[in-house]
Amino acid sequence: MDPDTEPDALFGLAELLDDDGGGAPADAAGAGARPAGAGLLDVREIHAEPAAALSPRGRQVIARFPGARLIEVGSHWNIPQLHGNEGNAERWVRVKRQTLVLGVRKSLTVRPNGRSADWIAPGASNGCAMSCAYCYVPRRKGYANPITVFTNIGDITGALERHIASLGPKEEPNQCDPRRWVYDIGENGDCSVDALISDNTADLVRAFRAWPTAMASFATKYVNRDLLDLDPRGSARVRFSLMPPGDSRLLDVRTSPVAERIAAAGDFLEAGYEVHFNLSPVVLRPGWEADWAELLRRLDDELPPAVKAQAAAEVIMLTHNRELHEVNLRWHPKAEDALWRPDLQQAKRSENGALNVRYRNEVKRAGVERLTELVAEHAPWLRVRYAF
Ligand code: SF4
Repeated sequence: MDPDTEPDALFGLAELLDDDGGGAPADAAGAGARPAGAGLLDVREIHAEPAAALSPRGRQVIARFPGARLIEVGSHWNIPQLHGNEGNAERWVRVKRQTLVLGVRKSLTVRPNGRSADWIAPGASNGCAMSCAYCYVPRRKGYANPITVFTNIGDITGALERHIASLGPKEEPNQCDPRRWVYDIGENGDCSVDALISDNTADLVRAFRAWPTAMASFATKYVNRDLLDLDPRGSARVRFSLMPPGDSRLLDVRTSPVAERIAAAGDFLEAGYEVHFNLSPVVLRPGWEADWAELLRRLDDELPPAVKAQAAAEVIMLTHNRELHEVNLRWHPKAEDALWRPDLQQAKRSENGALNVRYRNEVKRAGVERLTELVAEHAPWLRVRYAF
């Protein structure tokens, strides 16, 4: 659908917002009118379900990007001009930079996990402004998957509160955390980037502050220093994803440089976060062991002692996907030289029918073992929570 062919729908939503108080409450801009994610975001269009646009959180987002055109959509799930479009990657980056979606989250299910976290929270967003070549997040909406902000954040925190209350205290320590139930709040996006757009991440971090038996956790590849002001008081764990800088330059498209993520760790700890690391994805290619060893030595040299004293890591070997491989060949074939290794990989049909590709069992086992040895040798203070 070309938005220009939908003037009535657009007019109707804009008019409703006007009739109802000018589009945004006085405090709608939340953290203020600072430029959001300069370079990463330049929002020109907001595709919104009417109920999402009219909600307080929707109004906050709309007020934060006053120059953006508002386009009414029936469902955040199905916006053909944004999702799919596997062939035109240049356009996806533009879509990711210039487009947001506002939707109302219907499913509020908390799912068990047991690896990164005890539980996966219903996310407050779906999609990402960054474009990592191995990213699994677009798998459900299609490859140009800009950020959808879910505006019913109160429903999400309410569902979490009920779930946490139903569990009671954590009786048995586990690798996720010895004391508290850990909830991953960013499974399908990057909470640091989401915080450039709305107060959803802030609301979640603050909500967990009030729940002493639980903590939030999210992985990130973007350093957003605004998060330093949220005062989590230990109730949120940030997991900076790391890989050798050469791999990251090739694969982590549009993210903060690895050096910046390492440099931020001490500041986040001081601001009240627990700081862990995701050593992921581990991409096997000639020279990988030497480059990971160098990265680990760098962590040993550069991280403050206080970060080391509480740090832990997840090690996750690359999972790739045949459809994503085909798409990447059209826009970033060099990434596929590293990601697509049929000589080392085996295919596995996932629950949703996608053809995932993983390192063969013995290759993966040897890779995990070698990386764990490298951690023990070069960063012995870094407890590996799990390696997979
Ligand atoms: S930062 Fe995470 S969610 Fe965003 S593109 Fe990269 S892997 Fe995907």
